[in-house]
Amino acid sequence: MKKVDVTVVGGSAAGITAAITCRRHYPEKSVLLIRKEKQVLIPCGIPYIFGTVEGPDKNLVPDAVLEKNDIELLIDEITDIERTDRFVTTANGENIGYEKLVLATGSVPIIPPIPGVDMKNIFVVKKDVSYLQQMLNQLNRTSNLVIVGGGFIGAEFADECRKNRHIKITVVEMLLHCLMLTFDEDLCAVAEEIEKEQGIEIIATEKVESFLGNDTVKGVKLASGRELEADMVILGIGCAANTKLAEGVGLELGLTKGIQVNRYMQTGDDNIFACGDCAEKVSFFDGKPSNLKLASTATRESRIAGANLFGVRRINEGMIGVFSTVLGDTAFALAGLSEREAKQKGYNVVVGKSEAPNRHPSGMPETANLKVKLVFERGTGIILGGQVMGAKSSGELINAISACIHEKMTIDNIATFPMGTHPALTASPIAYQLTNAAEMAFKSMQLD
Ligand SMILES: Cc1cc2nc3c(=O)[nH]c(=O)nc-3n(C[C@H](O)[C@H](O)[C@H](O)COP(=O)(O)OP(=O)(O)OC[C@H]3O[C@@H](n4cnc5c(N)ncnc54)[C@H](O)[C@@H]3O)c2cc1C
Repeated sequence: MKKVDVTVVGGSAAGITAAITCRRHYPEKSVLLIRKEKQVLIPCGIPYIFGTVEGPDKNLVPDAVLEKNDIELLIDEITDIERTDRFVTTANGENIGYEKLVLATGSVPIIPPIPGVDMKNIFVVKKDVSYLQQMLNQLNRTSNLVIVGGGFIGAEFADECRKNRHIKITVVEMLLHCLMLTFDEDLCAVAEEIEKEQGIEIIATEKVESFLGNDTVKGVKLASGRELEADMVILGIGCAANTKLAEGVGLELGLTKGIQVNRYMQTGDDNIFACGDCAEKVSFFDGKPSNLKLASTATRESRIAGANLFGVRRINEGMIGVFSTVLGDTAFALAGLSEREAKQKGYNVVVGKSEAPNRHPSGMPETANLKVKLVFERGTGIILGGQVMGAKSSGELINAISACIHEKMTIDNIATFPMGTHPALTASPIAYQLTNAAEMAFKSMQLD
């Protein structure tokens, strides 16, 4: 039987990063990565296949990253794990021994039990090249597209599918606004306005009751009785941890049905680690179970798991969700808790907002507006969350805010942190949005 030191199951964000991290921390160990699919998609790039990048073959992770890091690749499916004797069995009948095993088996899209959901031309968002190519072919023949779910996936698909096509797009969202599971209402309202300006119809506070048609979808019936014409439907209502393999060998699951792990990303079996969408998560703020599934989190967990394989080196302090997207030309981003979520968790909060052009003077090329909203715990002044909207630099600024949250920085720390500015790159030092939002929170606390 073939034997390796480390076997990683899964070849996407979590698996690749766990394997590379292991290589960096334990250069003497042999590392094998086993994945089902021949080609790996950049998962977050999937919506852009339908517009900007024009096809699944333009959205692939090159295998060169594995070769460069001396990681062996096997394309096969793991069907069983023999935990006592430490070997895995593949669908092709191979047995491979391991010293440490990393499960990075990811997630699968949720298919809601709505009548008619198995009709032709109703798609979920699978990380599968040939499935996505079929979806793209159908989209190019479609006149009426209905997207069920107005979260990140629904919003990004709507924005991309409209590009270079004359097509009616309708988004059906159960909540009051699109993106409402993430952002505060003011940002959701701006995002919806942008989508509407692009001709996308948004139907909020509505549920899909059934899909109409015989073999092939022809329409969507809503709970209010309204019927929408549709020759294609995309379901973007979330995903569930892929735990089939782990459950099959008796590994415990957590409350959100992810593989239960400790703070070192170790499962109940000392020699098996789990990371990414398949692993259970807890919130950084209160240690309670968290259902967030993000590629950024997946790689963070993998950097912890990979480093801990042969001895504890890193600890997972819990999940700080960091989201970013762009609709039209406007970026939206959040780190940590929104104001609404912080209040729901029982925090007494104080908020500071600041808005300014992201260049100075504002006549500089590429100037765009940038708004920052920070949420702090009243009393301690510790930052709980931040939201950024406007210029595309939001994607980087939100990561700086996430670092502030992780380091439990206070209003005063952020108002006085040593930042750098430049006319062609940032807002002016006087109007710098991050420090000024903290100052506004300070002012607001003084007024109470
Ligand atoms: C449309 C879309 C857009 C997104 N946009 C963003 C974004 O902008 N930012 C962000 O942070 N996140 C985003 N996400 C979420 C992100 O894609 C996931 O969090 C990420 O893919 C998780 O990575 P993972 O490696 O844990 O799992 P997955 O990507 O699901 O990969 C799982 C891997 O395991 C393999 N596997 C499973 N079982 C077996 C087995 N038995 N044997 C062998 N191999 C197996 C699979 O083949 C696959 O290679 C988006 C998701 C979607 C669907």
